[in-house]
Amino acid sequence: MCVFSAPSFHDHEQVVFGHDPASGLKSIIAIHDTTLGPALGGCRIWNYGSDGEALEDVLRLSRGMTYKAAMADLPLGGGKAVIIADAKRDKTPELLAAFGRFVDSQGGRYITAEDVGSSPADMEIVRQQTRHVAGTSEGGSGDGDPSPATAWGVFNGIRAAVRHRLGRDELTGLHAAVQGLGHVGEHVARFLNEAGARLTVADIDAERVAWAVRELGANAVTPDQIYDVDADLFVPNALGAIINDDTIARLKVQAVAGAANNQLAEDRHGKALADRGILYAPDYVINAGGIINIRHEGPNYDREAAFADCARIYGTLMQVFHRAHADNRPTNEVADLMAEERIAVVREKNAAPVARRVAGA
Ligand code: NAD
Repeated sequence: MCVFSAPSFHDHEQVVFGHDPASGLKSIIAIHDTTLGPALGGCRIWNYGSDGEALEDVLRLSRGMTYKAAMADLPLGGGKAVIIADAKRDKTPELLAAFGRFVDSQGGRYITAEDVGSSPADMEIVRQQTRHVAGTSEGGSGDGDPSPATAWGVFNGIRAAVRHRLGRDELTGLHAAVQGLGHVGEHVARFLNEAGARLTVADIDAERVAWAVRELGANAVTPDQIYDVDADLFVPNALGAIINDDTIARLKVQAVAGAANNQLAEDRHGKALADRGILYAPDYVINAGGIINIRHEGPNYDREAAFADCARIYGTLMQVFHRAHADNRPTNEVADLMAEERIAVVREKNAAPVARRVAGA
């Protein structure tokens, strides 16, 4: 396994492997870019098929965090950690404590948080070993769950997509096809309902669907039928890679705007959506509410201020949409470009005093 020639290696600053034989910890921390600040990113606990698979995942996800933080205008860089373990079978307090010590050994260059396979409660155990943890219940945002903030950001991103694609500010009477009613999807569906949108929903969990039908007056379809719904909006809040060759041909919507990470199966699917006249709200821009909320964590957490900050996603997405329109480029490409530009500005500023010192030496 070689790091520098791994397919997902893109100028990462640092990749560290951590092992604790006593607890069985096998972990990788990838720090992609710290130009804007310490690298923030969750800890994914997953039973990877191989060490190489874990490395690919942590490299890919950490880079995504750099772009997400840059577009959310946060003084944070991008990082990620993975623990190679079965979250149900192997996740012990000893393993989490060993992970906490591993995070601490990075001296604050990497800040961890919950992710797939890890919970706010797990992060409390990690916090006993390091202060470089975000998103715990001590953060002041209630139970440490970032989902309501993420959903509020997504809802405001949907408003931006509606403004740009449909030329209207009200969601009343619009029809949204909502995929996934979990931690984030439930709140997104509720916000859409309160704004007067009509919902068609799908989830593999029948109880979640029954809730939406009962509480929000939603129509229900099967998980596969959600792509065929004749609606204004497709709102994916479940899986990644749901925008692919198969589904793009089936979608009958004007815009795709939802919380799910890694929505495009491949980058080229951003262009495929644009070619069909479907506006795509880049996933890492619209779903950044969770990390925006982290900036507000602390004993004086102010939910109103945090949610107002998440609502800024509206303006950020509008910038992406306008530039994509002006340059006739897919929105996902434009978002990447804007993130890279924001980082380049700070990198140049940081480099200037060094260059001056060298010149003066
Ligand atoms: P979750 O596990 O609570 O919810 C996912 C929901 O999707 C569940 O109800 C599940 O039953 C449903 N689902 C799974 N497969 C499905 C399918 N094939 N069809 C329809 N529904 C299906 O997860 P979450 O925290 O709500 O996150 C949802 C998405 O948003 C994920 O992609 C996550 O990475 C992303 N995201 C979440 C946050 C956050 O704050 N939680 C932040 C940024 C991005």
